[in-house]
Amino acid sequence: MVRALTTSAQVTATDLLRDAFRERFDGQPQVFARAPGRVNLIGEHTDYNQGFVLPMAIDRACTIAARSNESNHITIRSLASDEEQTFSLCDLKPEPKGLFSDYVRGVVAGFCERGVSVTGFDAVVDSDIPLGSGLSSSAALEVATATLLEELTEHRVSPMDKALLCQKAEHQFVGVPCGLMDQYASVFGRTDQLMLLDCRDNECRYVSMADPSVALLVINSNVRHQLAESEYAVRKSQCESASSKLGLQSLRDAGLESLNHPDLDDLEVKRVRHIFTENQRTQSAAGETEHQAWGTVGELMYASHASLRDDYQVSCAELDAIVEICQCIGTDGGIHGARMTGGGFGGCAIALVEVARLKELCRRIAAEYRIRTEIESSLFCVRPGTGAEIIPAS
Ligand code: ADP
Ligand code: MG
Repeated sequence: MVRALTTSAQVTATDLLRDAFRERFDGQPQVFARAPGRVNLIGEHTDYNQGFVLPMAIDRACTIAARSNESNHITIRSLASDEEQTFSLCDLKPEPKGLFSDYVRGVVAGFCERGVSVTGFDAVVDSDIPLGSGLSSSAALEVATATLLEELTEHRVSPMDKALLCQKAEHQFVGVPCGLMDQYASVFGRTDQLMLLDCRDNECRYVSMADPSVALLVINSNVRHQLAESEYAVRKSQCESASSKLGLQSLRDAGLESLNHPDLDDLEVKRVRHIFTENQRTQSAAGETEHQAWGTVGELMYASHASLRDDYQVSCAELDAIVEICQCIGTDGGIHGARMTGGGFGGCAIALVEVARLKELCRRIAAEYRIRTEIESSLFCVRPGTGAEIIPAS
């Protein structure tokens, strides 16, 4: 079921979109839909290896305002990227065009594939998730589009089918072979809950993270290295090759003994070790979070970062600098742990921090990052929030 909630942040987002829609298309939008980004506390690059991840939907989202236009064209204007694109409902071939509307086209195609009759619409979209920073603005755009289409077509898809449809859109229309975590979190998020998702069978256990004394601080390195997309695909194929050499269905089944397998080269041993240890860390972190054992959760985050840096080799100097700064500040200074989050090669790091020290920590991390890299970071706190929903139009 699509839920409908209203918060003050949404009121601001919908007011802004309503004005932008009126300015561009005349008249009022008919439907508002929103879908959140996500932060993954731990469990990086494990999703496409059928492993464990521990994400939460965040209180930042992609919001779309739309109205049917009685044509066979979809026009979508993005305030976040200041672009407008139009495509025809006759043009739903799964070919990436390098446009932001590819995400929308892919989701529309998914509905058509299910026999749903989609007609044209005009839309304005905005997002307070930084684009391309590892917080999943892409899944938020897909899931917001799917939620919008459910309302416009009066055809509900099951939440799991919605996540899968959006993942397929990203695979086929954008060309990114992502796992299911981002779309899953955006659909299934709940206030104050993390999701321990088993990517083998997509079973999820909600894990409470309601302690008001700690917060997750997102630190955007504000760099994105070119390697991000190409190396993602390289890692994925390295994992597939290693699991086939090990005779496993996926690296989810790798054990300690796998690391000594004679067919694996040194690089493959590193990749397998990351997936094996990260799956263990992720399951431990879920239990430790439930017990509010923040010191232990923090240690697991630091260990995850070290493994991503040394074994999986997807970090970069800027993300390493942020994590080192956090480690130097330490528990006494109010930081339990930190790690890069998302695919890597730039984007964001997250830190588990004491709420009481937040202001001072933000100032200190930003200042030390500036000294080390000469780059301005952006910092903000996130809380686990609700999944995609329709927002009442007034
Ligand atoms: P992430 O999902 O971590 O933010 P991606 O590279 O997967 O990074 O997705 C970012 C891309 O998603 C952007 O470059 C853009 O094409 C698209 N996108 C997401 N949200 C929006 C939006 N509100 N407006 C325009 N494009 C968007
Ligand atoms: Mg993405």
